[in-house]
Amino acid sequence: MIHKNFIANQWVSALAGQTLPVINPSDGQMYAEIARSGEADIDVAVRAARDAFEGRWGRMAPAERSRLLFRLAMALLDHQDELAAIESRDTGKPMKQARADAAAIARYFEFYAGAADKLHGSTIPYPNEFTVLTVREAHGVTGHIVPWNYPLQIFGRSVAASLAVGNACVVKPAEDACLSLLKVAEIAAEVGLPPGALNICTGLGAEAGAALSAHPGVDHMSFTGSPQTGKQVALAAAGHFAPVTLELGGKSPQILFSDADLDAAMPVVLNAIIQNAGQTCSAGSRVLIQRAIYSDVIGHLSELFQATRTGAASDDPDVGPLINARQLERVQAYIQQARESGIEQAAVGQRDLNAPAGGFYQAPVVFTNVPPDHPLAQEEIFGPVLCAIPFDTEDEALRIANGTPFSLVAGLWTTDGARQMRLARRVKAGQVFVNNYGAAGGVELPFGGTGQSGYGKEKGFEALYGFTTLKTIAVRH
Ligand code: NAD
Repeated sequence: MIHKNFIANQWVSALAGQTLPVINPSDGQMYAEIARSGEADIDVAVRAARDAFEGRWGRMAPAERSRLLFRLAMALLDHQDELAAIESRDTGKPMKQARADAAAIARYFEFYAGAADKLHGSTIPYPNEFTVLTVREAHGVTGHIVPWNYPLQIFGRSVAASLAVGNACVVKPAEDACLSLLKVAEIAAEVGLPPGALNICTGLGAEAGAALSAHPGVDHMSFTGSPQTGKQVALAAAGHFAPVTLELGGKSPQILFSDADLDAAMPVVLNAIIQNAGQTCSAGSRVLIQRAIYSDVIGHLSELFQATRTGAASDDPDVGPLINARQLERVQAYIQQARESGIEQAAVGQRDLNAPAGGFYQAPVVFTNVPPDHPLAQEEIFGPVLCAIPFDTEDEALRIANGTPFSLVAGLWTTDGARQMRLARRVKAGQVFVNNYGAAGGVELPFGGTGQSGYGKEKGFEALYGFTTLKTIAVRH
C-alpha cells in the first residue's frame, strides 16, 4: 500500500510521484510505501495552512476550537488500539508501550483543548490617559519536524499546543515512522478540523524537512531530533527570522546516594534505559552510584538486566528492536568501542531466539566503572546502554552529572530532604525528579533543556507561550 500526503484534508501523492519504503524494524521487511515529498509538496502544504489560518480556522472562536480539539482527543482514545498497533509495527515498540503512547496523544489534545480559551494577556499600569494591554496571538503557520522514536507523543506535544492557540500546522514526520500520524490526520478531519489546519508531508529530512525549515511562509519551527539536525533547522529558519523550539536529547543522570530507597530505585533505573529500547531523549543513560553501595547496586542491576527479554514488537517483550539498521550499527559501534577501551560489561539481557533474523535487535547492556569523560558517558547513544559511574561525595556527583554538553533531565535518589533541595537546584537539567524518574511524563510538566539538549519549552501551559507572540496595545484616551 502507498500512503499519500495529507494536505487540506485530502490524500495527495508527492508531485514528483516518488515514494519511500516503510520497513518493519522487527523483521527488516518492507510492508508499505510513503510519499517522498520535495520542496513543491511542502510549498502546497504551507499555502494550504496559510489559507486555513486566514480563513475559517484562524477566525474560529477559542471556545469552538477547544470543543473541536476535545472531540479529537476523545476520537483518538476511541482509536487507541488501532493507533497502538500501527505505531508498534512502524517503530518496533512493544504493544504495551505503543498503547501508552496512543493514550498520551489523546491526553495532549485533551489538555490543550482545555487551555485553548484560557490563554489571556494582561493590563499594564501606565499614565492615566492610556489604557495598555497585552494580547497573545498565534504565529500563523507552524512547522513541525517529528522524530521516529515517539511519533504519536511528540506530534501530540507540539501540534496540539500549536492548534490550541489557533496556528495552522505543517508536519514532516520521520521517514522511518509516520503511519500513525497519517491516521491521526484522518481522524482529525473526521471530527471536523477545517481543511488546511493540519497538513502532513512525509519524506526525507534532507529534502522535505529542509524545505519546511527554510520555507519563508513558516512562522515558527518546532524540531525534535539530533543536535546536528537541530542546528541545521535553526539556521534555515533564521533565513526568514522564524523562531525555533529545539528538543534535542540528552545524557541524563540518575544519582543514587547511599541513603536511597534502593528497592524503589532499581526498577526505575532499569526502565529509564530500556523503555523504547533506550531511544528516548530523556533516557536515564547514566547512573551515578555512591561508592558505599556501588557493588550491591551493580549486582542488583545486573540481575534485572539479565532478566530482560528483547524480541519482536508483536510479542510484547521488555525491549523491542531498534528503529533501523543504521541505528543498530551506531549503538553496536559504541558497545564495541567500550569493550576495546577495556570498560567492563556488568550484564547483558536475553535476546529472544525466536525473534525474526532480519530485525534490528540489541539486548540491554550495563557497563561499569565508566570514566565520566569517555564517549560512552558523554554522547547520546540512543540505545539500551547504561553507564554506571561511582562517586564519593555530593560535589563529585554533581561535577559528573553536570559534566556533559546536555542538560535535559536528572533523577536524584536520596532520603535526605536538605540534599534533595540543594541538588535539585544545582543539577543542570530542565526537569529534576526526586525519588522518581519522569513522574509518569504528564503533559502538565514543562519540558526542555539547554545546551545540546536544545532550547524552548514544550508541554504544560508554558508551551502555549512559545506558540504565540505577545502584542502590546496602548490606547490614548
Ligand atoms: P535526525 O535528527 O536526523 O532526524 C529527526 C527528524 O529530522 C526526522 O524527521 C528527519 O527526517 C528530520 N531531518 C533530518 N535531516 C534534516 C534536515 N537537514 N532538515 C530538516 N529536517 C531534517 O535524527 P536521526 O538521524 O533519525 O537519528 C540520529 C540520532 O539523533 C539518534 O541516534 C539520536 O541520538 C538522535 N535523536 C534524538 C531524538 C530525540 O528525541 N531527542 C529523536 C531522534 C533521534
